[in-house]
Amino acid sequence: SSFGHFGFDEALLKSVRKSEYSQPTPIQAQAVPVALSGRDIIGIAKTGSGKTAAFLWPLLIHIMDQPELAPGDGPIGLILAPTRELAQQIHVEAKKFGKVYNINVVCAYGGGSKWEQSKALEAGAELVVATPGRIIDLVKMKATNLTRVTFLVLDEADRMFDMGFEPQVRSICDHVRPDRQTLLFSATFKRKVERLARDALTDPIRIVQ
Ligand code: AMP
Repeated sequence: SSFGHFGFDEALLKSVRKSEYSQPTPIQAQAVPVALSGRDIIGIAKTGSGKTAAFLWPLLIHIMDQPELAPGDGPIGLILAPTRELAQQIHVEAKKFGKVYNINVVCAYGGGSKWEQSKALEAGAELVVATPGRIIDLVKMKATNLTRVTFLVLDEADRMFDMGFEPQVRSICDHVRPDRQTLLFSATFKRKVERLARDALTDPIRIVQ
């Protein structure tokens, strides 16, 4: 299949094919090679475009390229999403593909048990999917830290802003090391999102679904 052009290893390719995806969606075809090259991305794409896999595959490969977690280490990859529902959907897909590499994925959202989420984080997770307010709470509680994050995804940035998460999103971006790779996805590209992209991304490639 045309997934072969991505240069994925056999294990990941097998998992993608097992998902019965016959070919990459347009956003995947464009974003995956750019993300694998290490560049920042502004992706203008809606739900249903296949954007989740477009950022997950390069993110999982990035994690595999890093030294293993030591005890007490926080995640290497962080995905921010506006709602519990979206975070859980991303979590399901991340676990499916993360299984290929034995990558632990933890989902942390507002309304869920902070105690359970802390326990899961303390056990060690290379990848965290979270809503912005909750991950800040968990960092303040010292359940995790963002010092090892080198790959940051801001999913549905416009919806995160509509829900009032702009200060939290900006605070997280300011606390993650500046030499990280950042992928921002948004269905729309209004002024506020544009401003965030200018502040939080480095020389991004813009991809429109
Ligand atoms: P998303 O836009 O990421 O929410 O994905 C929408 C749906 O498309 C999800 O159910 C994915 O599992 C599915 N999907 C993702 N990539 C592909 C693909 N290449 N071919 C077919 N379905 C896909």
